[in-house]
Amino acid sequence: MLLVLISVAAIAGPVAGLIVLNYHNPVDMIIPPDLEEIVTAGTGNQAIELPKYVGSTYDAASRTVTANFNFTNPFEADLSVNSVSADVECAAHAFFLGHAELINPVEVREGATATISVVFTWTQTAENHFLNAHPNAESIDIILINLDLDVSGIDIQTPENISLTVPLVQ
Ligand SMILES: [Zn+2]
Repeated sequence: MLLVLISVAAIAGPVAGLIVLNYHNPVDMIIPPDLEEIVTAGTGNQAIELPKYVGSTYDAASRTVTANFNFTNPFEADLSVNSVSADVECAAHAFFLGHAELINPVEVREGATATISVVFTWTQTAENHFLNAHPNAESIDIILINLDLDVSGIDIQTPENISLTVPLVQ
């Protein structure tokens, strides 16, 4: 396990700031055999890339924001994006609006790029904040922070914040 951790650090190094691999419980963590092989044999050229934000959609009826990301699997093994979660804040006030999460797991074949959709549903707290702090606003800037992915059992935390502009219907 020590070897794995050292190798992960070596891989993550060249893309410092992009991703942080974090093991909540290294002793109990199970790495799929293929992925472990890739991680331990990594030469520094391969790393899991941060999902690339491509756009968002807003559904007024269900009061949901769907943020879409492209996730590329650079490995010679299939990966599964099991979960994605993020906190959502109002950009202007750093006001906590709620959580966004992946609805269904996504399989990403080796070398392929898949779209990952993360959904945020307005909470009543968010609604109240819009009414109180953004009266008559036609849109609001929100940020997704603490983006956290489970990819084939490996926890990936990203330090990057993603900004979205969402139309408001009042
Ligand atoms: Zn606000």
